[in-house]
Amino acid sequence: MFKPQEIIVESGSERSPIFRNLKRAFPEIPFTFADEVRDNEATRSMRDAFGEGKRKLLLARHRGEFLKKCPGSDGQVCCNYFVINFASNCPMDCSYCYLQEYLADNPVLKVFSNVDDLLREADALFSRQRKFFFRIGTGEITDSLALDPYIGFCAEVIPFFAEQPNVLLELKTKSDCVEGLLKLDPKERVVVSWSMNPQKVIDADEHGTASLDERLAAARRCQAAGYKLGFHFDPIVEYAGWEEDYRDLVEKVFAAVDHRRIAWISMGVLRTTPGLKRAMRSRFPASRLPAGEQVLCPDGKMRYFQPLRVGMYRKMLGWIRAASPIVFVYLCMESKEVWEQVFGFVPACEKELGQAIGQQAVGGRL
Ligand code: SF4
Repeated sequence: MFKPQEIIVESGSERSPIFRNLKRAFPEIPFTFADEVRDNEATRSMRDAFGEGKRKLLLARHRGEFLKKCPGSDGQVCCNYFVINFASNCPMDCSYCYLQEYLADNPVLKVFSNVDDLLREADALFSRQRKFFFRIGTGEITDSLALDPYIGFCAEVIPFFAEQPNVLLELKTKSDCVEGLLKLDPKERVVVSWSMNPQKVIDADEHGTASLDERLAAARRCQAAGYKLGFHFDPIVEYAGWEEDYRDLVEKVFAAVDHRRIAWISMGVLRTTPGLKRAMRSRFPASRLPAGEQVLCPDGKMRYFQPLRVGMYRKMLGWIRAASPIVFVYLCMESKEVWEQVFGFVPACEKELGQAIGQQAVGGRL
């Protein structure tokens, strides 16, 4: 249950539907109004500025473009994904979250009020490029659903995305906040996906998130409401006994949902950077994740030694294939060498991989 200490509203944003939803959701929380908000002023001097940033909520207009190509990672196979940033930072607090480094200078939890501008921009782009199939996600610098019960973002945008012939919208989450989706008709154009980890990893490192059983129950509710599903085994963490836990996790996922409704599954091992490790050690001294041995890769990220992660992906793929020979599986932020060793092929280009994922998700109708 998210409860900010304060909600700061930038002038002009009080006319938005999100403002009205926040007022309804938090009648007892103080709302402060300001002409222009510099979101790092309030937290700059604090010891844990990133953690403090999660306890305030700033409602402001987004300046600039909402839709961007996912930056991917240098030299890694890219899946031609687009992102919409409707919010920044996240009310949950995973020890390995890359936002700790990415948003270090800009940590206040922010929601953008001008959703009408977002829809106008998206409409213009999709209409201009009807022959291109867009896979778009909202979970790059926030969780797609954790704030939805309070801001009602999905109810504003899903009716629009459901009508787009050349778009699949992905809502990626570690929450079980799906109530607002269930009464909408996604018309096969919306994928709700969960990042999955064994309960042991959730307890140790995914603070404030839904439990494994809650995520699976939410996935079942979305499936019943007509949504396609996605699962991201990411980050896969290596520890003594990981095989047993992840095998059990894969079996639980396939026992919970109909594999024919799964649009895609991705796999990715734990990735860090030296800066992120510093933040993890300072904010989560009890976490064992920064202690694991990792090597620096050409994109500047640290991962497990290549033979180790290839072995982990192969095992995961074997368990997934035993449960479903048809579900689409891809690797997130991995090199061509790793793709080759895990799948026996490398996508010819990012366009090919993006189209293949989209094609699978819409049953071959691109
Ligand atoms: S749920 Fe995602 S965005 Fe939120 S803290 Fe965890 S990793 Fe970061």
